[in-house]
Amino acid sequence: MEKDPVCGMLVRSEEAAEQRTIRGRAYYFCSAACVARFDKAPQLYVPASADDMPGQPAQGPS
Ligand SMILES: [Zn+2]
Repeated sequence: MEKDPVCGMLVRSEEAAEQRTIRGRAYYFCSAACVARFDKAPQLYVPASADDMPGQPAQGPS
């Protein structure tokens, strides 16, 4: 079972509505609504790695 990073629901990978691969890790989603939210702001759901964090956010909310 995989955890949908948006809603936290456990999803069977073979039954997932959608799947995304970010930095080589696969994420599975229970529904198109969840993957739509993920696509808008994947950084909210994918743990940041040290390599991708130069110390300052590239863009802040404005
Ligand atoms: Zn979901």
